[in-house]
Amino acid sequence: MANSNPEIKYTQIFINNEFVNAVSGKTFPTINPSAGKKIVDVAEGDKADVDLAVKAAKAAFDRKAPWRQMDATARAKLIYKLIGLMERDLHYLANLESLDNGKPFNNAVYDVYGSIAALRYSAEWADKITGDTVPSDGPHLTYTRKEPVGVVGQIIPWNYPMLMLAWKWGPALATGCTVVMKPAEQTPLTALYLCSLVKEAGFPAGVVNVVPGYGPTAGHAISVHPDVRKVAFTGSVEIGKIIMAEAAGTLKKVSLELGGKSPLVICDDADVEEAAKIAYAGVFENMGQCCIAATRTFVQEGIYDAFVKKATELAKTRKVGCPFAQDTQHGPQVDETQFKKILGYIEKGKKEGAKLETGGVQEGKEGYFIQPTVFSNVTDEMTIAKEEIFGPVQSIIKFKTLDEVIERANATNFGLAAGIVTKSLNNALVFSNAVEAGSVWVNTYLAVAVQAPFGGYKQSGIGREMGKEGIELYLETKTVSIRLPTKV
Ligand code: NAP
Ligand code: MG
Repeated sequence: MANSNPEIKYTQIFINNEFVNAVSGKTFPTINPSAGKKIVDVAEGDKADVDLAVKAAKAAFDRKAPWRQMDATARAKLIYKLIGLMERDLHYLANLESLDNGKPFNNAVYDVYGSIAALRYSAEWADKITGDTVPSDGPHLTYTRKEPVGVVGQIIPWNYPMLMLAWKWGPALATGCTVVMKPAEQTPLTALYLCSLVKEAGFPAGVVNVVPGYGPTAGHAISVHPDVRKVAFTGSVEIGKIIMAEAAGTLKKVSLELGGKSPLVICDDADVEEAAKIAYAGVFENMGQCCIAATRTFVQEGIYDAFVKKATELAKTRKVGCPFAQDTQHGPQVDETQFKKILGYIEKGKKEGAKLETGGVQEGKEGYFIQPTVFSNVTDEMTIAKEEIFGPVQSIIKFKTLDEVIERANATNFGLAAGIVTKSLNNALVFSNAVEAGSVWVNTYLAVAVQAPFGGYKQSGIGREMGKEGIELYLETKTVSIRLPTKV
């Protein structure tokens, strides 16, 4: 059940199955965004701690170490054990996530289920990862082996702390890699509690290591470490570019899941009420802190006014408040920086001539709550139509023809997701083939599934997480050729 005061059990760095202080002894506060007040101090990892974590992960990846000697089914069983413990502690984990991140408790419960689904999907791959036998020229038996990449560095954001962790731990552990993860500075608590479950599940020491701390220090140390073979990152385009550049020094494999400015196209033939509900969910989910948020709502001219009216009504119904209250749909933004940044974008929207239909201001006086905000009369050149706001701001833009809106939808460096609401199969097919995005949703939105690859075109990322492609990200392919006897 919802509990706004869950006991905080773990605040230290997790290396080699032990919780330890930072080498420097430093700590940093993690904040409750509903109140703007400190929850607890957490050990602040830095290069020295990352070095220790990588050393542990490297030792755990040694060819003679238990993790490498284990059957693939045994790896899967350990992941299932972890899942069982997460189910046992479901409400505790959800409360901890709500407290640290601000998302409503009910959404946090959903995130725990989503994390479990991601881990289960990955675990089921463990003993189904196979190579090929290859009909090579010459008297050789040639086959390929799929082997784990090795020590992987994983750097995650604060919007879905547990879910992003599970999306990264799942394939890494299923394939037999070892992990050094840095959670976001805003939301370290669930990752640390999950470490205690990793130990309880019986994973060998060093397989999972978590170093809370800041990006430019701990995150940087992971990106440049010579013994880290791959870095997997989710976050902003800006930091994605830095990580890619830094990983170049040691030629790490890099996978990046970055931001978006995703178009949702509503055609004239759509049911206005249905379309408005899809758009509402697509943009306000998780207080708009969603990489796939439908932040450019393109509406065809014939239904534009009716759509704006409906969208505004819906936004006004959204229940903003304490994340632990049963009927809350919308909590605070994650921190003061994001809060101010979003209010800044709203001011720009007004100044550049968009029409504020509802919201636009802080809700209440405490914490980082922002009212669900709807702008109409938005044009493509406005800042709110171009930059990732990462907040509860809907921008409704008018279009005339499908051809025209495809060009406009694609006129961005982002390419994470897109959607279309239409009754016409032709519209749906033309749009979904032409739009430059890693995920396209027709008559729905946010339909992310652990079985399906997820990631971005253009500057929204490199590589795909989840699905079969997500497993491939953590594998090397080795070709083995064995000379065959020539006499038969
Ligand atoms: P961010 O800076 O990209 O942070 C993501 C992660 O990268 C955090 O763990 C961060 O550490 C770490 N990091 C920062 N600098 C680093 C560096 N030089 N080397 C290695 N790691 C580094 O994102 P943010 O500042 O939290 O949010 C800013 C914007 O990013 C948002 O407004 C939004 O537009 C976008 N964003 C996108 C997603 C997504 O899912 N695609 C998620 C979150 C944010 P710290 O904890 O110290 O920041
Ligand atoms: Mg926090």
